Amino acid sequence: MPDSTATPDSLTATSAPSKLPYRGRFAPSPTGPLHLGSLIAAVASYLDARNHNGTWLVRIDNLDPPREVPGAADSILNSLRQHGLHWDEEVLWQSQRGPAYQRALGQLSSSTFQCDCSRGELGPNGDCQRGCRLRQQAPVTPCATRISVPENVSIQFTDQLQGQQNIALGQSAENFLIHRKDGLYAYQLAVVVDDAHQGITHIVRGSDLLDTTARQQFLQQALGYLTPAYCHVPVITNAQGQKFSKQNLAPALDSETAVLNLRTALDFLSQPHPPDGLYEPDSLLAFAANHWSPHLIPGVMSISA
Ligand code: GLU
Repeated sequence: MPDSTATPDSLTATSAPSKLPYRGRFAPSPTGPLHLGSLIAAVASYLDARNHNGTWLVRIDNLDPPREVPGAADSILNSLRQHGLHWDEEVLWQSQRGPAYQRALGQLSSSTFQCDCSRGELGPNGDCQRGCRLRQQAPVTPCATRISVPENVSIQFTDQLQGQQNIALGQSAENFLIHRKDGLYAYQLAVVVDDAHQGITHIVRGSDLLDTTARQQFLQQALGYLTPAYCHVPVITNAQGQKFSKQNLAPALDSETAVLNLRTALDFLSQPHPPDGLYEPDSLLAFAANHWSPHLIPGVMSISA
């Protein structure tokens, strides 16, 4: 659980990111249009990058064709542009990154095993508990690839907002999925390979992803990558306490009200109020980047709308 004693300004997951030029990113999954919840994450990562004179990238996490909504990626990119959130390099599409993920699987092969368990056979954390790892020969049926986590592995990092994290990963995840039975690569693997490929030094994203970070750091270490600095900002929830998401039918943002939407996102992040009279997204964001104050963001996991 988050430790609220952390100093919010100490962004020091490892010393490496602070020595490298800042590179941040926003990585939406194209499962629907941009909504307020995703705008907040985009704005936070954008402003943090701009405030550090850094580079800000956009990656489309279209790893999972069955979940992809046709037209959603273009709609998200258009919405980002209309909100003045301009990225600095070409958009990276996960759908084109298969060979890189395959190479990473190869690199990890000494710690992975094939598993043909059905969903119902997996343990409560989604781990294989049936001993597939000990099989001499992989079954001929389609198999998933899992990575073994030694029992004594623990991951420690300081999240800029959520504080010191100590996760006994070997206890909570004995093994986890990196390549699915249906041939799709798992999010944990793809995100790590892509962040390294793009030289990402700072990851600012929603706190709903905090609990994926230990698995990602484990993979970064196994692949010999640097670990970026992390900052997990609170996510907005509806009256029922559910995250604003495409699944919960969060309304698409209206680009006609881009400035208002941005002001709402800044308010949510408890940032200084931009003066009246800033009528364009670009001028509003320039003010917000200059006055970016991550220590003002509430260090909680979620806030109800
Ligand atoms: N694509 C992921 C999502 O939309 C986010 C990935 C990340 O920021 O690491 O939830």
